[in-house]
Amino acid sequence: MVEQRPSKPQVAGSSPVARSLRLGEFEAIIGLEIHVQLSTKTKLFCGCKVEFGKEPNTNVCPVCLGLPGSLPVLNKRAVELALRASLALNCKINETSIFARKNYFYPDLPKGYQISQYERPLAVGGYLEFEVEDGKTKRVRIRRIHLEEDAGKNIHEGNKTLVDLNRAGTPLIEIVTEPDINSPLEARLFLENLRNLLRYAGVSNADMEKGQLRCDINVSVRRKGEGKFGTRTEIKNVNSFRFVQKALEYEIQRQVRIIKEGGKVEQETRGFDPQTGKTFTMRRKEEAEDYRYFPEPDLLPLVIDKEFLSYVKENIPELPSQRLERYLRDYSLPKKEAKILVNYKELGDYFEEALNYYREPKKLLNWLINDLLGNLKEKGLSIENSPVRPKDLTQLLKLVDGGQISTKIAKEVLREALETGKKPTDIIEERGLKQISDENLLRELVEEVIKENGEAFERLKNGEKRLMGFFVGQIMKKTKGKANPRLVSALIEERLKNS
Ligand code: ADP
Ligand code: MG
Ligand code: ZN
Repeated sequence: MVEQRPSKPQVAGSSPVARSLRLGEFEAIIGLEIHVQLSTKTKLFCGCKVEFGKEPNTNVCPVCLGLPGSLPVLNKRAVELALRASLALNCKINETSIFARKNYFYPDLPKGYQISQYERPLAVGGYLEFEVEDGKTKRVRIRRIHLEEDAGKNIHEGNKTLVDLNRAGTPLIEIVTEPDINSPLEARLFLENLRNLLRYAGVSNADMEKGQLRCDINVSVRRKGEGKFGTRTEIKNVNSFRFVQKALEYEIQRQVRIIKEGGKVEQETRGFDPQTGKTFTMRRKEEAEDYRYFPEPDLLPLVIDKEFLSYVKENIPELPSQRLERYLRDYSLPKKEAKILVNYKELGDYFEEALNYYREPKKLLNWLINDLLGNLKEKGLSIENSPVRPKDLTQLLKLVDGGQISTKIAKEVLREALETGKKPTDIIEERGLKQISDENLLRELVEEVIKENGEAFERLKNGEKRLMGFFVGQIMKKTKGKANPRLVSALIEERLKNS
């Protein structure tokens, strides 16, 4: 099947069609296989450290090098984290699960097989629920979660390939969903919610850039109402959530086009090129591997007893749904905004830290969402990288509350602090922005303004109340916005009474 090129050049996902993905009589069926690196200190079957970016082949030993005669010993902490993920995803835990050898040859796999789980995985039958559009909830079922070890890394340099085995034996879980996802956006939202959940549960930082979360995408299309699934393709090595969405947008349209033209989608593994926004053939079905799985003879079946399971349950950190409940209950935050906080763990963490310094949750929430986030977004920064830290923000808010700076100035200072990386309090000091609350000085200014606007003042005295704003404005002008507006109003009122 020859691929048809779009008639005019397109940037991936930017055409209106691609964005809204009007499929007409077709629908998309998507299932994901996700590998997540567990945040243990050591590897799955040996005591070697798990560290990113180390000198190649320094965190290795006979076990993870696959030397003859070495034996694997299961890392209990990895089991705990895998169980946390399984529980957070509402899975049923298999009391007994079995490790299996998945055989294949590759230079970064020194044993010639990967230890994984096959017929009897750690957990089955869960789900993840998340919000899609207009508050609608989507439930994606989890088919299985199993434990396995990672392979090493091949590094291609010119016509040589170097092998680094530091990563070999790193603990992973593989999460396999049922084909319940029906659009590129849903796939992206699923992954974002999954990442958030895994971070909350302390299972993994699930950072895609560091390879801590890797995702294979299975996708097919079919005519609506058709009972059978269409032939699927599997897209590998997509390395950001945005690209997952883009790859799917392209691939779904490609498959629809093939079927509309009377062709057949071939079952194959495809790659995604972010440069072109297109997927391309990597391997065909005929080349599918046969892994000759069999039970791992060097490891006992993994038995999760009740005691260990309740220990794991008791030690799961607060999950997003629990945090949301707490925010609604303890702080009476509006639900919509509270969800924004909770749905990105680092934002919630920022909020929590700021609350230690400033006990007005609602005000804090408003500043966070309306001012800080907007400004950060403009600069392409995420909350973790905000130069304005929780304490800095709360110092600013306290100055507003204490009447030392106006809200308007606080907003300006916040913007400047994000721009320059300077501390808000330093900016206020440097630029002499503290509000003028010196009554004597302000009284003088009130007199000055009345003198300059005698006629208007008469009208104000005669009850034209709206002129109040004008007078306050004049004084703000004279003080370049630094006069304490509440005090100024009070002083004008006082002057009205006495004249
Ligand atoms: P394999 O083990 O060969 O990779 P599975 O049948 O276990 O295949 O499915 C792997 C993933 O593909 C699962 O996430 C599943 O939901 C998804 N999937 C299966 N069939 C389809 C299909 N026709 N269209 C889209 N996704 C599918
Ligand atoms: Mg697969
Ligand atoms: Zn080792």
